Amino acid sequence: MEPPVTGMLESYAAGRWFRADDEGRPVLDAVTGEEISRISSTGLDLGAMVQHARTVGAPALQALTFHERAALLKAVAKDLMTRKDEFYELSYSTGATARDSAVDIDGGIGTVFSMASKGTREMPNDTVYLDGGTERLGRAGTFLGQHIYTSRPGVAVQINAFNFPVWGMLEKLAPAVLAGAPTIVKPAAQTAYLTEAVVRRIIDAGLLPEGALQLLCGSPQGLLDELTVQDQVAFTGSAHTAGLLRNHTNVLHGGVQLGVEADSLNCSILGPDVAVDDPEFDLFVMGVVTEMTVKAGQKCTAIRRVLVPRDRADAVAEAISARLAKVTVGNPRAEGVRMGALVSLDQREEVRKAIQSLRASAEIVFGNPDRVDTVDADPERGAFISPVLLKAADGAVEPHDVEAFGPVSTLIAYDDVDHAVRLAAQGKGSLVGSLATHDPDVARRVVLGAAPWHGRILVLDRDDAAESTGHGSPLPVLVHGGPGRAGGGEELGGVRAVLHYMQRTAIQASPDMLTAITGRWTAGSARNDDGVHPFRKSLASLRIGDTIASAPRTVTLADIDHFAEFTGDTFYAHTDPEAAAKNPLFGGIVAHGYLVVSLAAGLFVEPNPGPVLANFGVDNLRFLTPVKADDSIAVTLTVKQITPRTSADYGEVRWDAVVVNQDGEPVATYDVLTLVSKEWTD
Ligand code: NDP
Repeated sequence: MEPPVTGMLESYAAGRWFRADDEGRPVLDAVTGEEISRISSTGLDLGAMVQHARTVGAPALQALTFHERAALLKAVAKDLMTRKDEFYELSYSTGATARDSAVDIDGGIGTVFSMASKGTREMPNDTVYLDGGTERLGRAGTFLGQHIYTSRPGVAVQINAFNFPVWGMLEKLAPAVLAGAPTIVKPAAQTAYLTEAVVRRIIDAGLLPEGALQLLCGSPQGLLDELTVQDQVAFTGSAHTAGLLRNHTNVLHGGVQLGVEADSLNCSILGPDVAVDDPEFDLFVMGVVTEMTVKAGQKCTAIRRVLVPRDRADAVAEAISARLAKVTVGNPRAEGVRMGALVSLDQREEVRKAIQSLRASAEIVFGNPDRVDTVDADPERGAFISPVLLKAADGAVEPHDVEAFGPVSTLIAYDDVDHAVRLAAQGKGSLVGSLATHDPDVARRVVLGAAPWHGRILVLDRDDAAESTGHGSPLPVLVHGGPGRAGGGEELGGVRAVLHYMQRTAIQASPDMLTAITGRWTAGSARNDDGVHPFRKSLASLRIGDTIASAPRTVTLADIDHFAEFTGDTFYAHTDPEAAAKNPLFGGIVAHGYLVVSLAAGLFVEPNPGPVLANFGVDNLRFLTPVKADDSIAVTLTVKQITPRTSADYGEVRWDAVVVNQDGEPVATYDVLTLVSKEWTD
């Protein structure tokens, strides 16, 4: 790996590293003010990058299944883990402490691991993803509907904010790779050197196919001009830039999809039930202080508005101030420093201006925006600022409007739950809100009232505090984004994140056609009974549609009695003829549903040692028609889906099971889930 932070930052474009040959503009160390690199993209062919993504990256990624893409991601995450120390070292220059870097670097790599795991566990080993089940569109069942997701032949452009140079990139890259979408990363100039180092490592390791990842260090001017209807942009940054992008002609008229994560005036609410000596009071105060100081408050999810019951406002102000007074500001490399620097001197000016605006309707109760003591650093040359807590006057407008993107929060008093909810909504849409309460009624009222204004809500109390990931952490398995002012975008949320990069299409076709298109057996399509019991076939020789139809078996009253006695399930409908006769659904003794399923297993099983290793569950079990004594049942088992596991010598087989009675009526339907050896010889 070449040393990344000397001189001009490079872009990775169309298969090679590109270095602009002009002066570029300097990028300064946030802590010392010294120049650490230069950035420029003068002469970079953006059109060629986009073409490269579409013609080289997309086909290479899309030739792989979801599982194969997930395996690549896992390899990338493992490899990045081995280089963490280098990334941490660079991260100090962004003003981040080691704790801040953990959020960015470990958080980013953890997100890649999490998405890789989701891709393997929750997506098929195929290139098409099915959304929901089939919809019957005609009476006879010959015309069905199925929603599918497919990869697009376009490029995923990500334009990122300065505050999370690693996580911000990886949380978008991982789902894009799974979706088969080649990515162009455009990091924010101030911290691009850290993103460059991570991208350089991924490229050098050669774990992703060529074209799957490109990097643009420098100006994105003209990039959107190159995009068309199959391309998309995921933007994180200011509402101002978001507005410019929204008004780009290719977004307005050219079909380019744009997702936006922008400013957000997130709130945290202290429940009206919480007294000063309750555990929730401390949890609330700690949450606010953490969110103010981690990344020096430069987090899109940080708490900007602190909503408290009016009679506890002073107590909260005192408790937060007491904790803030203990926060040591300074060189993030120095021992004991809790809060580092803002990303740049310009950003500090922005924060000071925002505090000035807030002061129109709020007074400072802690901190001085123009003065701070620093450990092992020059407070003027580095972008240091004190944490600042304000307290708003009644009816203040600015705290709901002005985002100071630094260690700044404003206390706002509320009168009752409805008032708190109204204040929360005054943020006009937020990424996240939190509530400290131990009262379930308060929790329901606040959450249901505030949810339409939020992308995510944390309810914090003594029961979940130990495991809680806190107010400010976007989680790979949960949606990140928010309505209105927060941009209206949505990221993460498990497989949802992948689907954002894909196209959903409703397919209308016959069962056989749907089976062919989706690679999953569809009820009503052809079955294949070649005389060999499918339990004798290895994963390699099993085919979708392979089937076994059992002989019928009579279910006697003795069977039902025996099952009741044996299992202890003596529910009256199986044991008491008189009471059962009065049951409006059964009108007499019926077999247990689980007896039917157990007998069905006895009907379809092939008992000898063979490739089927285990039954690991049943999905979608429904009992449709009661089975009475002396009814007979038969079962048909059909291979529905075959999913080899990449790192094991077996895979999963999903079987469609239908149990019918002597009249051909379906009695029970379900999917049987088994593990089957990839190879088997008798
Ligand atoms: P900007 O909107 O200025 O920059 C964000 C990204 O957009 C950068 O990569 C920047 O590149 C790029 N960019 C700037 N102008 C254009 C353009 N005309 N076309 C395409 N891309 C462009 O935001 P800031 O850097 O000022 O970030 C600070 C603000 O962003 C915060 O105050 C906060 O409100 C918001 N933010 C929101 C987050 C969220 O997740 N919701 C997270 C972080 C920040 P370059 O650096 O080269 O100018």
